[in-house]
Amino acid sequence: MSKKIYERPILRKVVEGIPNKFGSLKRLRPVETIDNVAINDIIDEYGSPVFIISEKTIRETYKTAYCAFSTRYPKVQFAWSYKTNYLDAVCRIFHQEGSWAEVVSGFEYEKALDNNVSGSKIIFNGPDKSDADLTRAINNKSLIHIDHFDELYTIIEILPKLKERPQVAIRVNMDTGIIPQWDRFGFNYENGEAWNAINRILTDGGIDLIGLHIHIGTYITMSKAYSIAIEKLAALANKTFDRFQKSISYIDVGGGFASQNTLQGAYMPATDTTPSFDDYAHAITTAMTSVNFPNNETPTLILETGRALIDEAGWLAGSVLANKRLADGRRAMVIDSGINLLFTAFWYDYEIFPVQETSFQSEPTTIYGPLCMNIDVVRNNIDFPLLNKGDRFVIKRVGAYTMTQWMQFITYRPNVVLIDLNGKVHVIRKEENKEVFRIQELVPKHLQNK
Ligand SMILES: *Cc1c(COP(=O)(O)O)cnc(C)c1O
Repeated sequence: MSKKIYERPILRKVVEGIPNKFGSLKRLRPVETIDNVAINDIIDEYGSPVFIISEKTIRETYKTAYCAFSTRYPKVQFAWSYKTNYLDAVCRIFHQEGSWAEVVSGFEYEKALDNNVSGSKIIFNGPDKSDADLTRAINNKSLIHIDHFDELYTIIEILPKLKERPQVAIRVNMDTGIIPQWDRFGFNYENGEAWNAINRILTDGGIDLIGLHIHIGTYITMSKAYSIAIEKLAALANKTFDRFQKSISYIDVGGGFASQNTLQGAYMPATDTTPSFDDYAHAITTAMTSVNFPNNETPTLILETGRALIDEAGWLAGSVLANKRLADGRRAMVIDSGINLLFTAFWYDYEIFPVQETSFQSEPTTIYGPLCMNIDVVRNNIDFPLLNKGDRFVIKRVGAYTMTQWMQFITYRPNVVLIDLNGKVHVIRKEENKEVFRIQELVPKHLQNK
């Protein structure tokens, strides 16, 4: 019999059954399937890690949101926020459901066109629109949401060369009680910049001001902030009508609804605290119907909801690489998905589940990604059962801002698959390989010798 390797004994707290301030700890049940498809089968077929998107959840979430607004207000239009997740398959699901496109760059604009969105159903936001971007978008009758005076001057400059009259809105920023106040985008309400911009637009004569836009922040849990914003936009609309006899046809309240992901440091889980679509819809539509718009008109209500429509539909499944003890004896688990894929792990306490049955015992564990980088922490100090090397895990609610903000750092980006309504699995973005990078790179002649 060979001699056993000596292992230093450590003391560890066994937390099974011991109540914390909320009651007894519950055993973490595994999540084995998504829409009745076994996660293990998906990993076997498409590799580890892998992003998994549920078409069913996207459609159901969209319908819930649309219903919350359309039952309370007569004219409602959603525009899918491309930067939240611009995989073509995802965008096309939203477009099939009736969403327009909301884009913030020439690249996203082109994606929307390629997804067969007609120009007049594309909202062009953001501070970065080149002369060529503006020319194309205006000629396509897209809605241009002007961010700053320099953009307005550009539009005025290119006016003589345009084939269509620009259809514009201005983005307005304001104090709604939300901290920090996002005053770097658009024109400020309180200091009169927004009113100046409207005057400059309407004295020109060649531009149509058809809407007013806000996007007051993201992960906003205070629905009242939207009501305050709508009151201020209505005041601007009335002032505009009094002076120019022009009424606007839509109010765009942007995005910003919170998803059910819990922010780091939050006391209660977000599933208990996040307002529902009904809560937001109540606050927003009540404000829309209680303020007076010029001529008693009812402007269309546009929503650019991103995060809250897609977070729930996305999952990230992967495998455990190793377990180890840190210097002070704490348990650490290394997994094959890090902040390269979950940039958002900096803000969120993601929920992570084993994919297979585990032991009843759990232990405070820090979950690290695979990167050679100290900040690559997916979850800090959570109570988690022991998973062995090769065991699988799945992280919940990763649909928003992951597949757009992910970085190609150290490893390739993995496959993204979509489970359709019939439970069929489709690759919607291929895993990267060395060819992807070889195509992009050029080696100067003097470095080409073998
Ligand atoms: C990012 C963004 C959105 C989407 O915001 P969420 O917080 O994800 O809902 C909507 N509108 C604009 C202008 C944006 O920049």
